Amino acid sequence: IIAEEQLSGRGRMDRKWHSPKYTGIWMSIILRPNIPLPKALQLTLLTAAAIVQGIEDITGVQPEIKWPNDILINGKKVTGILTELVAEADRINAVIIGIGMNVNQTKEDFPVELQEIATSLLLEKGRKVSRADLIKSIFMNLEKLYLLYLEEGFFPIKLLWESYAISIGRKITARTLTHTIVGKAQGITDDGVLIIQDEQGKTHHVYSADIEL
Ligand code: ATP
Repeated sequence: IIAEEQLSGRGRMDRKWHSPKYTGIWMSIILRPNIPLPKALQLTLLTAAAIVQGIEDITGVQPEIKWPNDILINGKKVTGILTELVAEADRINAVIIGIGMNVNQTKEDFPVELQEIATSLLLEKGRKVSRADLIKSIFMNLEKLYLLYLEEGFFPIKLLWESYAISIGRKITARTLTHTIVGKAQGITDDGVLIIQDEQGKTHHVYSADIEL
């Protein structure tokens, strides 16, 4: 489902996603994988890898992934992913993967509060980029990775994802709903969960958090 404009685009925890008309890619993909609930996070990571490949194919720029759902270029957010589930207690009926990609916005198209933290492909490349070409490439890459995932599981996707990840090996701060962990991001588990080793040497598994680099 592709929209030309979103009037109330949103990110995680109902945060606003700025989605002005004709400038970006505002789309959702519905998948119906036969996987258990905790594995849905893997699809966010898989989608992030496909988006990195799509942007690289079309623009030659290689973005980086900030766990779990942000794609950055030169430290600024160019794309956000929001994965939502339609599920019963033990079964996923559908996974809705929302993608918001800044493509042809100029700096002035962003509200002031986003101007220092957001970027677009136009701003990074210095020229307009075809949204149709990008969508095509993202879907080609996504389909390839999704079929690989269904056949071989998350492991090959994990290796690819790690090669694009910005936070691995670095000191980060993770704010979960209940506490804050400061430590070194060690990588992700075979399920896609972030592993952080804190300054006392204790290992934490983080399922959901705000990450500060
Ligand atoms: P963070 O960037 O702090 O890790 P997050 O991953 O929780 O945030 P999302 O929920 O994916 O972020 O997106 C919401 C946030 O993204 C907003 O609070 C705002 O700061 C920022 N934002 C909103 N619209 C855009 C946009 N078009 N481009 C880049 N960033 C945006």
